[in-house]
Amino acid sequence: MTKATTSKIKIAKARAAKPLAAKTVPVKSPPQLKSKFSQDTIAIVYDFDGTLSPQPMQEYTVLPKIGIEPQAFWKQVHEEAIATGSDPMLVYMRLMMEKLYKNDSVKITREDFSAMAEKIQYFPGVESWFPHINAYVKKRGAGKVNVQHYIISAGQKEILEGVSIRKYFKQIYASEYHFNQYGIATFPKLLITDTSKTQFLFRINKGKESLSESINDHMPESERPIPFSNMIYIGDGMTDVPSMALSKKSGGHAIAVFNPKIAKTKETCVRLLEAGRVDFIAPADYRNASKLAARVELLLDSVIAGVAYAAEVAACKAENKAENRTDS
Ligand SMILES: [Mg+2]
Repeated sequence: MTKATTSKIKIAKARAAKPLAAKTVPVKSPPQLKSKFSQDTIAIVYDFDGTLSPQPMQEYTVLPKIGIEPQAFWKQVHEEAIATGSDPMLVYMRLMMEKLYKNDSVKITREDFSAMAEKIQYFPGVESWFPHINAYVKKRGAGKVNVQHYIISAGQKEILEGVSIRKYFKQIYASEYHFNQYGIATFPKLLITDTSKTQFLFRINKGKESLSESINDHMPESERPIPFSNMIYIGDGMTDVPSMALSKKSGGHAIAVFNPKIAKTKETCVRLLEAGRVDFIAPADYRNASKLAARVELLLDSVIAGVAYAAEVAACKAENKAENRTDS
């Protein structure tokens, strides 16, 4: 065999080995094989105070440090907010600073707030809830569905960063302080209120989870990483109404939990249920086999079935687009 013949064979072999994609495709019908179906993530979004923990987080952390009775503190916040037409969240954040720094020797750093979190108490079962839910979704979704947990709280992020369950959350959105050049908290820098909580549901929905990313650009439903139908919002009261309403109206789900030891928290939940704000209500008991666990698992089954359905629709469309391309 001559050298020329050998190289001709090599060229022919190389051409034959070229992938299909390298073939010339008519411009008017480019390959439309949809990239892999990606709306396979479920988000469970939790309020914190009254939802995962019985009392507002300040009552376990900052208020004992100040030495003030929670009732007296919240009364002062409430009265000042009304008298001055202020946002109660801003009032509480400022009053906490003023009271902490009344004594000049007190300086509160980010680490101080975080360390205070160890005093936070949870409703029963909270600490084992997340591994349980993760395992449940893995099993029921045959490993094809993911679940991510988020907190959206009007409370304080610096405290939440120190909670024992921190590792289970993809993101924690909560109000934040500005820390000056000495690392001392001096001023609120981010405020999360009942209504602004909804912004963060859109961030999760559109995959724009960082505050530096704009969420105002239009994004087709099919391109949103976590559609509302894959979301479950869990909260405890009237402060969660905007988030519950948005979740429900957008095809998602909501659950209200109550403290079985405080009758009025159940009354609030019943009102939410009657107004159609939530799918279910249940005592805030996160242990396996609790009513809450059973209802969340039922919702998860429904969402997982929805994900499987949407994945099959996408596969069917992609399949037939591929066939059309071969036929043409
Ligand atoms: Mg709450």
